[in-house]
Amino acid sequence: MQKIITKSLCTFADNFIPFMKTFLEFDLPKSLQKALDELGFVHPTPIQEKSHSVILSGRDMMGIAQTGTGKTFAYLLPILKQWKFQNNESPRVVILVPTRELVVQVAEEVEKLTKYMSVRTLGIYGGVNINTQRKALAEGVDILVGTPGRVMDLGLDGVLRFDTLQKLVIDEFDEILNLGFRAQLTSILSMMRGKKQNILFSATMTEEVDAMLDEYFEFPEEVSLAQSGTPLEQIEQIVYQVPNFLTKLNLLKHLVSETETMERVLIFVNNKRIVDLVFETLDEEFSEQFGVIHSNKSQNYRLNTMAAFQAGELRGLVTTDIMARGLDISDITHVINLQFTEEPEKYMHRIGRTGRADKSGIAISLVSPSEVESKIEVELLMDTEIKEFALPEDLKIEERYLDFEKEKKKMKFLLKTPKKEGGEAFHKKKDKNAKVNLGGPGKRKPRKTESRNRNIERKRDEKRKKK
Ligand code: AMP
Repeated sequence: MQKIITKSLCTFADNFIPFMKTFLEFDLPKSLQKALDELGFVHPTPIQEKSHSVILSGRDMMGIAQTGTGKTFAYLLPILKQWKFQNNESPRVVILVPTRELVVQVAEEVEKLTKYMSVRTLGIYGGVNINTQRKALAEGVDILVGTPGRVMDLGLDGVLRFDTLQKLVIDEFDEILNLGFRAQLTSILSMMRGKKQNILFSATMTEEVDAMLDEYFEFPEEVSLAQSGTPLEQIEQIVYQVPNFLTKLNLLKHLVSETETMERVLIFVNNKRIVDLVFETLDEEFSEQFGVIHSNKSQNYRLNTMAAFQAGELRGLVTTDIMARGLDISDITHVINLQFTEEPEKYMHRIGRTGRADKSGIAISLVSPSEVESKIEVELLMDTEIKEFALPEDLKIEERYLDFEKEKKKMKFLLKTPKKEGGEAFHKKKDKNAKVNLGGPGKRKPRKTESRNRNIERKRDEKRKKK
């Protein structure tokens, strides 16, 4: 029987201590250094080292860094290093993040670092009583962490004011745009009139991020950690080719019961209807060991399930991409892609839940024939082939396809029907995408994703030819 063994957990520090800087070189105030010491962090991560002086200089910054690289402290440390007591009611720092869970997480990180400082932190997000948040704001806040929707609502209300704002941090910028918060972001930006420093972090440089940068921010200094799409080295990636979804469920149960090292696992599927199906299947065999998180669950349910998982009361969570971004859950041993995502960037975010900071992890993808193309795209993006494992000999192979698989097959067939090039729809799309030069200053940068997409296309053609 095949077993997957987790690589021994080694830290960067074990390997690189002689060459690494320590936080002492950041010359942090005693109160901040003490909090950092208590967290046990000695060496700054590369993104922390690279962004520190840029943020201290007061220039706008665009950091390209994947989650798990320590980017939250990368912006918090220089901000807190420059902290001086002031008696303001409205926030001096606003941090925007895409999800409620991230609000909670980032606010907690701020609290940890400001344990010995006098800083009032508040987290706000939608889906909960706005009046409680109004009251909390009225009591005064220094660092506000929030989701764009709720920050905008309270800003428009006039309860939240930005007249004393000194720094705006937009974390997970690409994901905020992916989730459709562009209008809220622009509304918030237009409310922030005075001079402030903009600190932006994005895991990827998408066209939309690039366009927003051009429109709203003045030449932010780019601090880049790794090329977008580079896999984290500590993650071992494995793939199984599986004929259909029911067989995938059999394999999932097999892996869960046979892999002793699978202590903390995130199982990703592509939509919330399937989450419940997978959860019920697992719960039948591994009663009360798994939980679910998706956007239809109430906020309380989501937070409680997360807390149970963090506390080690649950062995795993079944979830959608809502959990793929930003969230820092320590020591995830395995990520399982029960369905492969059609967007290569999302694959990177999912697997980035394991192998965080200084740990190793395993990412297992179960790929059906209709998902092979997406898997190849990810391999091209990473420039690495994912190791393939044979299915276990005793695995039950199912004949039946579920309705969503049949629909997908039908869709693929329809999409393959040749279209007349240059037909009506083609022109409409082209017109919509056409950019008009309005004669602004020549600061438009080339679109990074276009060239990358061309690269992917070229590599894919080469690979097909080889085959
Ligand atoms: P982030 O990318 O900000 O979500 O951080 C990922 C994880 O790395 C979090 O658990 C942080 O607490 C942790 N972390 C941040 N900075 C360091 C550091 N310098 N050394 C070790 N761990 C860190």
